[in-house]
Amino acid sequence: MEENAIKKYENNDITIVWKQHFCTHSKNCWKGLHKVFKPMERPWIEPNAESSEKIMEQINKCPSGALSYINKKK
Ligand code: SF4
Repeated sequence: MEENAIKKYENNDITIVWKQHFCTHSKNCWKGLHKVFKPMERPWIEPNAESSEKIMEQINKCPSGALSYINKKK
């Protein structure tokens, strides 16, 4: 993967955006929502494994700004 790669993962409601170069490996995301954020797997984000509300809530707790989302319904 390129150093400044931006990856996107979608479900019906949201597009999850991950900016790898911002990630500080705080582990918040996968400790909070381990069905969705699986750092040992590829793809490492499974956007259909929990409700979009829960995923958005968890993304809001990412301390580095590496994770963000676009709400397709707004
Ligand atoms: S919560 Fe954000 S900074 Fe922490 S591991 Fe996940 S993506 Fe990286």
